[in-house]
Amino acid sequence: KNRSVSNLRAAVICVLGHVDTGKTKILDKLRRTSVQAGEAGGITQQIGATNVPIENIKEQTKIVRGISQTEFRIPGLLIIDTPGHASFSNLRSRGSSLCDMAILVVDIMHGLEEQTIESLNLLKAKKTPFVVALNKIDRLYDWSTMSRKDVRDIISSQGPNTQNEFQTRTKQVILQFAEQGMNAALFYENPDPKTYVSLVPTSAITGEGMGNLLALLVTNCQSMLAKRLMFSEELQATVLEVKAITGLGTTIDCILVNGRLREGDTVVMATSDGGSIVTQIRSLLMPQPMKELRVKNDYIEHKEVVAAQGVKIAAKDLEKVIAGLNILVARSPDEVEICKEEVVKDLARELGRIKLQDRGVLVQASTLGSLEALLEFLKDSKIPYSSVKIGPVVKRDVMKASSMLERENQYGTILAFDVKVERDAQELADQLGVKIFQADIIYHLFDQFTAHREQLK
Ligand code: GDP
Ligand code: MG
Repeated sequence: KNRSVSNLRAAVICVLGHVDTGKTKILDKLRRTSVQAGEAGGITQQIGATNVPIENIKEQTKIVRGISQTEFRIPGLLIIDTPGHASFSNLRSRGSSLCDMAILVVDIMHGLEEQTIESLNLLKAKKTPFVVALNKIDRLYDWSTMSRKDVRDIISSQGPNTQNEFQTRTKQVILQFAEQGMNAALFYENPDPKTYVSLVPTSAITGEGMGNLLALLVTNCQSMLAKRLMFSEELQATVLEVKAITGLGTTIDCILVNGRLREGDTVVMATSDGGSIVTQIRSLLMPQPMKELRVKNDYIEHKEVVAAQGVKIAAKDLEKVIAGLNILVARSPDEVEICKEEVVKDLARELGRIKLQDRGVLVQASTLGSLEALLEFLKDSKIPYSSVKIGPVVKRDVMKASSMLERENQYGTILAFDVKVERDAQELADQLGVKIFQADIIYHLFDQFTAHREQLK
């Protein structure tokens, strides 16, 4: 109803890539530019996201050659702030990603790295279109910085040695993409944006190429995703994070991708015990605009929030909510039961997708996203898992692990990723000889487990 190309929502953009490639810096740069751009169309920092309105994008893309032919039709970009696998995986809905397009950041000096390839596989699995920011071009030999220019002109104005190095490194990256089964090309040499991923040379330090990156994101969104970006009243919202905030209690940060949320709405969400909660939105919160003094925990309350935006929800009973799943709104009392069934099914479906082995460790994590990231890692490391759960380790989990102990000693193990272990569960584990490894970094869990396995040999 009422969906049309003349009423598009902001596109939701994720930033992915290997550690230290410049993901955070790119967002920083975007925000800082906006402060200079002044009042109109200022970038606002939202909950878990940065909202870049189209007026601001117009300003930042003025330097892009040929941009005057572009008609800007989307109201802006909503860039997810907490870059990383978990947050990307958490943006899911009905099995597909809520993220409309992604920026995959590659350090031009390093090429494709371990986590770049992991990110690529996630993007492929979710069929998310993306562009590559070929970042840190300012580190090329003898680079001379020329901000406020189209990056194509900046590159062609460099000395011959610098241009050479740029070409060599770019070719190398294109080759590495080919090894991953993907066509890639510099955005201005891309023969077909539908089958070739575009590389945009950028520097998050000097700002060079940032205008080109924004322009490409907007034109790609408009040409490839116009249908998907039509504003719809049908609610699409995902929990990004569950957070305790002083004075507010447990709140949830969510990305509202479509539709609207209102104060007082009855929301229904899945919980870590496999059930659901029904609660009323007490307040819809967004941070103060940037130019005002930032006071800690100082949020502005909104009566209504319209997609696409990041928003914090304060309500009762949010403690057990699982990040990474949908929020449903019951518009009438009869809808409550239907919504409850749906969110429970949603969770079961997500967990049901995971292929388990007969013999293997038990895995517990705090969110679907972190669970997915851990499982991906275990798969690569050839560590089988026989059971998965979201939520803290309780006695029942230890019992389950002890039955695995009888089959194969090493698998009587629980890997607890970013979750609590209840005291009586730990006591029981000690009695039964079940090992519980607890960490908030995947590698640490892996190291603990492999050390334990070596010991058993
Ligand atoms: P992240 O781990 O991907 O979020 O990477 P960061 O944004 O934290 O950046 C990692 C390091 O690289 C920091 O020291 C940044 O200052 C630096 N860095 C990021 N982008 C650039 C760039 O374009 N050029 C240069 N020279 N350094 C950069
Ligand atoms: Mg970072």
